[in-house]
Amino acid sequence: MVVPFRNEPFTDFSKENEVKGYEAALQQVEQELGQEYPLIIGGEAIYGKAWITSYNPSQKDQVVGRVTKADLEHAEQAIQGASQAFKQWRRVPAEHRARYLLKAATLLRQRKHYFSAWLTYEAGKSWAEADADTAEAIDFLEYYGQEMIRINRPVELVHFPGEDNQQNYIPLGVGVIIPPWNFPLAIMVGITVSAIVTGNTVVLKPASATPVIAAKFVELMKEVGLPDGVLNFLPGSGSEVGDFLVDHPLTRFVSFTGSRDVGVRIYERIAKVQPNQIWLKRYIAEMGGKDFIIVDHDADLDGAARNIVTSAFGFSGQKCSACSRAIVHEDVYEEVLAKVTQITEQLQVGDVRQQETYMGPVIDQSAMNKILGYIAIGKAEAKLVTGGNALELNGFFIQPTIFRDAAPASRIMQEEIFGPVVAFTPFSDLDEAFAIANGTEYGLTGSLFTRNRESIERAREELHVGNLYFNRKCTGALVGVHPFGGFNMSGTDSKAGGPDYLYQFLQAKLTSEAF
Ligand code: NAP
Ligand code: MG
Repeated sequence: MVVPFRNEPFTDFSKENEVKGYEAALQQVEQELGQEYPLIIGGEAIYGKAWITSYNPSQKDQVVGRVTKADLEHAEQAIQGASQAFKQWRRVPAEHRARYLLKAATLLRQRKHYFSAWLTYEAGKSWAEADADTAEAIDFLEYYGQEMIRINRPVELVHFPGEDNQQNYIPLGVGVIIPPWNFPLAIMVGITVSAIVTGNTVVLKPASATPVIAAKFVELMKEVGLPDGVLNFLPGSGSEVGDFLVDHPLTRFVSFTGSRDVGVRIYERIAKVQPNQIWLKRYIAEMGGKDFIIVDHDADLDGAARNIVTSAFGFSGQKCSACSRAIVHEDVYEEVLAKVTQITEQLQVGDVRQQETYMGPVIDQSAMNKILGYIAIGKAEAKLVTGGNALELNGFFIQPTIFRDAAPASRIMQEEIFGPVVAFTPFSDLDEAFAIANGTEYGLTGSLFTRNRESIERAREELHVGNLYFNRKCTGALVGVHPFGGFNMSGTDSKAGGPDYLYQFLQAKLTSEAF
């Protein structure tokens, strides 16, 4: 039974029972920390000799879990396992495949706080951010399940006398699924199940910072009875097993979400036809961003300020859609900057196990080093307004940081920092604002605050980003409502969570019979 898709509502943490529920989930997860997880290849659990250890970024000596680390032999087995399973899975009817997702959505909904609590421990997500990540994962399962049923209809072709013509969609084959750590449940689930529901089999290589939440999801898919070999779980180092999986001649497509540099590397490698490879590999890539909020002189300045803060500092700015450039009209520049600074200085930063924490840590030491490096660059390129320091806590905490008067061509205005850093720059007219906004190699998200209809209509045409918003934050795309994906070096504009998305994992076959 398929009911109309509705987004999973976010939890209302003003309710006592939800607070108790989340606290209980945190306690349960705390008791489950430090366990060991196997690879899953062809349905078989495999414990290896090497491990990836996942730590809690809020408390960096706390082990979240240990996951077996695949070597190249495991990677070969995983591709072979997926290839073997494809022979049956491709023949399973679309509705039957979809029901595994719909069932998984139901189980995930029932265990929402439990999964969110894992995100709090493993990724450093505040309650609200973890809850949104889990809700999005539920949405992807439900939406792609329903979409598969919807698109599994004969395509209307022009009638030709004396012939019976049909166009159908068939799966591609073995997919390599490479998600990032920043939406370690939602994006990992989304890019995995979209490939599976369309009849492909996959090798999932989770991000090395967040493999435990992925292991939990793989357990869930086993529980719903997904056949062995359809979802092979292969934690491992991106640089070691990544190239091998991408290059493999049995790999039919790669679905990647992550940084620009890794995305480009895969793009270049995937184009090379390997010995015994009999297809051109397909590539779906969602990469970085250098997202902006423009505030014109006629805007609701309080609303703009609040939304800049949310977009810049939610999950410590570690979103591909995070606002890292505030482009503000010179007449209201000081006022908006003052409002943003005032809200920012009140944000609670700390351990995300506490409900009141707004902003937690960044993911690990190397992220911390990279972000502090950009803050040092920013101090040379622009003026520091607030923040700029690491916090003396037992985790990877950085103050929410604001720079002002950053030149549009400066590095902090051009390069993705992926941390709690936003730079302000003034403009005098919309031509200039749009040129600044469009003036990076990325094109993922952006928002314009204005009360002027003409300005909005102009911006619809001229701002070149995959997800363009008006008078709202530039983060927080909802499945089915705001299909997501960017232009230029932000990726292939796959529009995840949209009605075109599943076709990327399918190929169209035409059959024509003369009567
Ligand atoms: P990343 O460093 O590029 O890693 C992404 C994935 O690629 C990880 O699983 C990583 O494995 C793997 N990998 C690394 N080297 C590889 C190689 N040579 N071959 C194959 N795979 C390889 O990105 P991240 O730090 O996890 O995520 C943050 C980035 O993702 C940001 O740039 C952000 O903007 C982007 N992002 C984009 C979107 C979007 O929809 N456009 C959404 C979310 C995030 P290891 O973990 O083992 O290195
Ligand atoms: Mg960790």
